[in-house]
Amino acid sequence: MFVKEEEVVIIGAGAAGIGAGLALSRLGVPYLILEAKDRVGGRCYTDVETFGRPWDCGSHWFYSADINPLRVLADRLEHPYETQTTDWVSAIHSGGRWATPDEVTEARKYIAGEFGRITSETRDVSIGSLLEEEGRWAGLMRDRVAQLGANDPQNISALDYARFEDTNISYAVSGGFGALFEAMARGLPVRTECEVIRMDVRDNCVEVEARGDVLIRAGAAIVTVSTEVLRAGAIEFYPSLPSDLTDALEGISLGCSEKVALGLKSDPFGLSGASRIQLPVGEGEDARHAFFELLPNGKPLVIAHLGGDVAKGLVMDGEAAMVDFAVSALAAAYGSDIASQVVETAATSWLPDPHIRGGHSTVKPGMDGARARLRQPVAERIYIAGEATSDQHFSTCHGAYATGIEAAHEAAAMLGHWRADADPHWLPVFG
Ligand SMILES: Cc1cc2nc3c(=O)[nH]c(=O)nc-3n(C[C@H](O)[C@H](O)[C@H](O)COP(=O)(O)OP(=O)(O)OC[C@H]3O[C@@H](n4cnc5c(N)ncnc54)[C@H](O)[C@@H]3O)c2cc1C
Repeated sequence: MFVKEEEVVIIGAGAAGIGAGLALSRLGVPYLILEAKDRVGGRCYTDVETFGRPWDCGSHWFYSADINPLRVLADRLEHPYETQTTDWVSAIHSGGRWATPDEVTEARKYIAGEFGRITSETRDVSIGSLLEEEGRWAGLMRDRVAQLGANDPQNISALDYARFEDTNISYAVSGGFGALFEAMARGLPVRTECEVIRMDVRDNCVEVEARGDVLIRAGAAIVTVSTEVLRAGAIEFYPSLPSDLTDALEGISLGCSEKVALGLKSDPFGLSGASRIQLPVGEGEDARHAFFELLPNGKPLVIAHLGGDVAKGLVMDGEAAMVDFAVSALAAAYGSDIASQVVETAATSWLPDPHIRGGHSTVKPGMDGARARLRQPVAERIYIAGEATSDQHFSTCHGAYATGIEAAHEAAAMLGHWRADADPHWLPVFG
């Protein structure tokens, strides 16, 4: 059995866990990160093998890029990213034809107006209840919410969603967001393939047991696993988690956010550069829109983004169904020859992944306050961090990263390692 004593143990080496580790390193507090997977990054993973070039299976954009601390860290690590903001749509296929440029402008205005109504909402009602049901772009609006929120609009609290802060500047991380976190975690004490199964608070310490006969005793623990992993009971807590905390976990949904990537022989679209389009999936009134990136970073690739219930159905049907869906949607818009252009395929499966179990968090209608409850320490020694605990930057990597730093500062202060200059906005320098 591997037994070790640490000041702090961090569960999970995603954005939040790496943020917590970097902050503890800076404070000089000994710690160990336990990660269930054989890699770091969590929902940030760059696949460099399938297409011979990086593509991000999870997170890919620096949202609020102008103020995003991770962009500054990318600069420090000389990690490549684009410096033009990504526009969410340049073309829409709707009703069996391409929308005209004027219609695209009209759709953009409509959707901006609907988001304006959502973000000024002060009642804890569902986004679905605020949206218009009829109208040329009403369906696209519902699907856009699902693409962004990983949940369908009727399952998202407008009040919580309205707190999200975004400067509307998004830069694609061309070198791979997963690869960036890998670089940030280099040299940190991480034990991979080490799945935590039990946490026990006793005798002024937290005892953490992981598969593979690993036992760590620490003064404090920072838990960064996703809310769905916690909700599923993958880690047994002694004493059990307080009931108001389990209620808060019930109030948050990770929904579903998946991608399908198609490697192409060449550019069949006749585009000079990257383009982002909305394509309908399915027939008639049941048609739902998915967001497609054509030639991201100028490479012969298509990446389809699926969110909410439509994504849930497809991911459970498996990779072949997801690929078929993406190719069929492209064929309906560009002609059936497109299928012969596809040479390699890949699809994600975040929802069935036992270490993730979904996309990214939204709060259910009527459950406002759930995120704040997650942030309250458990038995004075366990700190929960991760994207779902951020009030203004949930569902993002920079939000998750910041919550890890905050939890590290709280744990360090509780253990008497407080430093007056422990600034939550501090940015690490890499050796
Ligand atoms: C398809 C998709 C696209 C996205 N796009 C963007 C984007 O463009 N920009 C953006 O900012 N955000 C995006 N996000 C959201 C972003 O990826 C997440 O908000 C962020 O990565 C969450 O980080 P985290 O540390 O909170 O959680 P996680 O990344 O889930 O990290 C938790 C870690 O805990 C580990 N773990 C789980 N159980 C155990 C256990 N029992 N023991 C030990 N370890 C365990 C997991 O393996 C994981 O590594 C996207 C997400 C998805 C799914």
